[in-house]
Amino acid sequence: MFNRSRNLGYPSVATIASKSPSCIAADPLVKHGGRATHERRAAGLLALCAMLPCVAGGTPALSPACALKAGASDEQDRKGLCGFDAAKRSFDSTPADQAKCLLRAPTIAVRSLSKPDVPAELLARVGTKTTPTISQVEKYLSAHHVIDADVGGPVRNPISADYFVIHDTSSPNCSEPKACPKIGEFPSNMNSADWVENKTFSHHKPPNSGHAKAAHVMTNRVGDSFTVVDLKESVSHVKFDYCIEKESKRGLFVGVENIQPRVGEPAVPNPGVSPNDHIAPIPGFTDEQYTRLALIYVVASVRRGHWLVPAYHAVIDWYFADGHDDPQNFDLPQFSTSVSTITAAMATL
Ligand SMILES: [Zn+2]
Repeated sequence: MFNRSRNLGYPSVATIASKSPSCIAADPLVKHGGRATHERRAAGLLALCAMLPCVAGGTPALSPACALKAGASDEQDRKGLCGFDAAKRSFDSTPADQAKCLLRAPTIAVRSLSKPDVPAELLARVGTKTTPTISQVEKYLSAHHVIDADVGGPVRNPISADYFVIHDTSSPNCSEPKACPKIGEFPSNMNSADWVENKTFSHHKPPNSGHAKAAHVMTNRVGDSFTVVDLKESVSHVKFDYCIEKESKRGLFVGVENIQPRVGEPAVPNPGVSPNDHIAPIPGFTDEQYTRLALIYVVASVRRGHWLVPAYHAVIDWYFADGHDDPQNFDLPQFSTSVSTITAAMATL
């Protein structure tokens, strides 16, 4: 996510389309507690789509929330960056090739994407039948004192998703006044259990806290997770699934938001200038966070019966104006290793 604005006026489609992605005024649709955040904004955009004709007979809508990047075509809108086929409910080519396309890391403010660099172990896994059994997953969860309600819902309930979308919350933005103890600095305790964002899961916990649903599950930076919506339910967390041909994508994408604070560049905004949120911490996520995210991926894949194709949010929404830049600084080899470690442990149960 990038370019959050405090502007409360809706930009016109023409205004959005005329600007480059890096200078688009952030959508002003969601502002919560003085801070517009990634997941709050996504949910707000969805709410707007519910009010406006985001899809009209397969034609891209004249909704600000669903506007495309300047120069993007209707065909690019339908297919995305990786050749989506609505009839097949799938991106183009094999699951491994899809993963190569969908896991290109976004640079700061989504100025570009990296070249494909997916670990061979993960490429060999995606799309194949899952090897842990439901019973093994349940034993593993029990042994690690994890309840399935915290990792997406009952393990024995099947899901329909084929894609596992990885997000970062891009919040709080510590370059915004009062968002963090020191403006322009990441909190010193952001990887500790006493950081408020780790307690509240970016204010989604407790359930029904009034916070708009931003994804299926959220991870915090100390290795815990919180289910917002069961993985078998459909909730939009990417523009690609609610802005175009949305019926063909219902229940196809599960999403996990991973808490990651941001600061702007510059870290302390110039007077009268709203901060951006371009800069993520290095490393972007904690070891514990990778372990929990990998566990959610395993659970989701076992519930589906085959390994889902992981995808980055920034790639999925590539052709949309005011797209997202997440996840930033995601260590794909560490994620893949965590998945392998968990599945190996499950195999012994
Ligand atoms: Zn996202």
